[in-house]
Amino acid sequence: MADAKHIQVYDTTLRDGCQSEDVSLTVEDKVTIAERLDDLGFDYIEGGWPGSNDRDAAFFKEIKKIKIRHAKIAAFGSTRRSGVRASADRNLQLLLRTGTQVATVVGKTWDMHVREALRIPLNENLEILNDTIAFLKKNFDEAIFDAEHFFDGYFHNPEYAIACLKAVDDAGVTLIALCDTNGGRLPHEIEAAVTAARAAVDCPIGIHCHNDSEVAVANTLAGVHAGATQVQGTVNGFGERCGNANLVSIVANLQLKLGYHCVPPAKLKTMREVSTLVYELANITPFARQPYVGRSAFAHKGGLHVSGIQRNTATYEHIDPALLGNDRRVLLSELSGRANIVYKAKEFGLDIGTASDDKIGVLLDELKRL
Ligand SMILES: [Zn+2]
Repeated sequence: MADAKHIQVYDTTLRDGCQSEDVSLTVEDKVTIAERLDDLGFDYIEGGWPGSNDRDAAFFKEIKKIKIRHAKIAAFGSTRRSGVRASADRNLQLLLRTGTQVATVVGKTWDMHVREALRIPLNENLEILNDTIAFLKKNFDEAIFDAEHFFDGYFHNPEYAIACLKAVDDAGVTLIALCDTNGGRLPHEIEAAVTAARAAVDCPIGIHCHNDSEVAVANTLAGVHAGATQVQGTVNGFGERCGNANLVSIVANLQLKLGYHCVPPAKLKTMREVSTLVYELANITPFARQPYVGRSAFAHKGGLHVSGIQRNTATYEHIDPALLGNDRRVLLSELSGRANIVYKAKEFGLDIGTASDDKIGVLLDELKRL
């Protein structure tokens, strides 16, 4: 894996993830999660939006007292308001006060939003994008631009959406994260639009997807396939409406299936623990069927499956669950075969013979009767 290409992991559990209707984290929770994500090897941790609430502003004070080894802490905000210089914009001033290395700002790239939400001329939005990023580049090590509604904008008015990207690229933006903000796009659309964006600008491209069509992870992989070098998402897919792209699955797919490097393999083994910790702090029961890390992700109930995995685990498992710190589980039920009973007995350190023994048949009959 030493020469595998690195894909940056940008976590927004503490900002976008907290827009989930059932997720509310204290400052202490947020600091605990940030420490764990840093230990896991994520590259960026977005701490919150200091302009939106006091708790997020408090997080940036607290996180300075913690030794963060690897990750860069990012503060989130939006482009300056119309009619105000960037240096005089209150939201941007609050970003400066966080003292982070990285500022990430969201801005408009869909002409409909510029006309209807901002109600300003299209050209004025280009100026806002350009001078907001120029201002941030002067004051932070890195300025990341979240291109809100980029994919919807691109398919309605590609010239304008691309012009917005060029406006921030000209200002020296560190990276543009293309956002499927409404979560309505499908993988082939993501791939086409990321390809067009890459052809238009020089800066690196990231991908930020929402899960409203249940393909946020697939869309993120499509983005990487088209050349995005940063993936944005949240642990367990927390986020507004149907959630953000789930970084647990994204990292596992990129690293175990596609040969990219995201986190050290030894740290990948802590993924299940991190996933569980985030559920615990959010007071949410972990999702048993969650791919890779869920309790049921490697649970085998059918007798045929259990007899298969005893010969070779690859018969009914797509990866070794231990790679993410998960466990294989064999269940006993009316669907069991003899292999389930032998396997389960071994788990308890009991050698009760082989599946073909008559006594195993007797036990199986009794199990099914029960
Ligand atoms: Zn988002």
